[in-house]
Amino acid sequence: MLKGKVALVTGASRGIGKSVALALAKEGAMVAVNYYKDEKGAETVAREIVKKGGQALVVQGNVSIKEEAKKLIDATVEHWGRIDILVNNAGITKDGLLLKMKEEDFDSVLATNLKGTFHCLQEASKVMLKQRAGKIINISSVVGVIGNMGQTNYAAAKAGVIGLTKSAAKELAIRGITVNAIAPGFIETDMTETLSDKIKDQLLSNIPLRRLGKPEEVANLVCFLASQRADYITGQVLHVDGGLVMA
Ligand code: NAP
Repeated sequence: MLKGKVALVTGASRGIGKSVALALAKEGAMVAVNYYKDEKGAETVAREIVKKGGQALVVQGNVSIKEEAKKLIDATVEHWGRIDILVNNAGITKDGLLLKMKEEDFDSVLATNLKGTFHCLQEASKVMLKQRAGKIINISSVVGVIGNMGQTNYAAAKAGVIGLTKSAAKELAIRGITVNAIAPGFIETDMTETLSDKIKDQLLSNIPLRRLGKPEEVANLVCFLASQRADYITGQVLHVDGGLVMA
C-alpha cells in the first residue's frame, strides 16, 4: 500500500510507535524511527525493518523542543528527499489528581503531547505543502474525548491534539494534505503496564470487546490513513478502543 513512501514516526522505540514503524515498513514505506532516550529500542526497530528488506533511519530528538523536532524532519528529507507520512505518536503521562497536580507535570505533558505534535506538524507541513501531498496522523486518546480521573494534563493535551488536527486539516486540504487523529482506548504497552489489576478489571468491564487493544491494531489504522485508500478522509478522529467510546 505504501511502496516508495517516506514516513517519520515519533516515539517509535517501543509500544504503539514501534508497531506503527514496523507496519508502515511492511507496507513498503521507508521509515525514520525517532526516539528520545531509548536508543537501543530504536536501533532494534530499525534492524528489524532492514532485516525484512526495508529501509530505516534512526533519528534522536525531543519533540517538545522546536529545534529538535525540526532536526527530525530535516534528517528525513536529507536522507530520502521527501516526507510523505508523519505519525505524531510520541507521548508521556504524568498522572495525578487535580488538586495535587504539580505545575511541572502539567507543563511537561502538554510540552511533549501537544506542543511536540505542533512542532512536527508545522515543520513537516512546510515540506508537504511544496510537494502538494502528505498524510499526517496524530495519536490522540479516548481520554482527550471523554476525560479521565487523574489525567487532567493528559486529557487537556490529547483534546488539544484533536483541535490541532481539525484546524490543520482545514488549512492544508487545499494542497492535498490530509490530517487525521486516532483515539486509542487502552492498548497493551509500557504506558498501561503500570495500571493495577483492580483498575484493569474496572476498565475491562466498560469495554464492550472485553479486552485491551494491541499496538498492531492501532498500526493497522495508521497504515490505512497513510494510504491512497484514505485520500478523501481528513479532519477525523477515529477510535481504536474496543467500543469503549461510542459517539
Ligand atoms: P510508550 O510505550 O510509553 O512509548 C512512548 C514513546 O514516546 C517512546 O518511544 C518514547 O521514546 C517516546 N517519547 C516520549 N517522550 C518523547 C519526546 N519528548 N520526544 C520524542 N519521543 C518521546 O507509549 P505508548 O503506549 O506506545 O503510547 C504511544 C502514543 O499513544 C502516546 O502518544 C500515547 O499518549 C498514545 N496512547 C496510548 C494509549 C495506551 O493505552 N497505551 C492509549 C491512548 C493513546 P523513548 O523511549 O526513546 O524515550
